[in-house]
Amino acid sequence: MAVRNILQIGDPRLKAKNHSIADFNHPKLKKIVKDLVETIRDGGLFVGLAAPQIGENYQIIATELKETKTRTGDQLDKLRVYINPKIIFYSKTKNIAYEGCGSVAHADLYGPVKRPKEIIIEAFNPDRHKFRLRCDGLLARVIQHEYDHLFGIEFIEKVIDYKKLMNREFYIKRIKDSKQQIQSSTITIKEFSEL
Ligand SMILES: [Zn+2]
Repeated sequence: MAVRNILQIGDPRLKAKNHSIADFNHPKLKKIVKDLVETIRDGGLFVGLAAPQIGENYQIIATELKETKTRTGDQLDKLRVYINPKIIFYSKTKNIAYEGCGSVAHADLYGPVKRPKEIIIEAFNPDRHKFRLRCDGLLARVIQHEYDHLFGIEFIEKVIDYKKLMNREFYIKRIKDSKQQIQSSTITIKEFSEL
């Protein structure tokens, strides 16, 4: 296992095509998943990562909403790995929350992004079991953010008001515990089923 460098915005690999996984027995798959997980956990505040961010252009994302001093209660979720994911439903209702990204970490930018509140995603886990997850709140947002990376999209392309971009320090001070950020991040739906 290894903690990998996270590619920064401008790196062409973030815009490259991401291939779907055809062979689940490929030894490289195990390594990519392990590295992805280890790199998320190394990131401290990271809540998800997409394979292209560690230079692997495959359709793999992972999320983990760990408990921290400020992230508690209904904003948590266990580690999940999504291989060949497809978001098959987006709610018409949207909400706004500030996002940041490991691939713009050096730029230290946070900004408001409007996304569907609720989604349904289908994917395979590393054991090739297909699953479906319906969710909202922070989990739905992180999944959509990571899923965008598979299409070469970084969140700053989706920021709704560039005048509201800010660095981490101001994000923590002004936004992180704001009513809107907490409301948008609260998870009220989490339905998992094996297919
Ligand atoms: Zn990102």
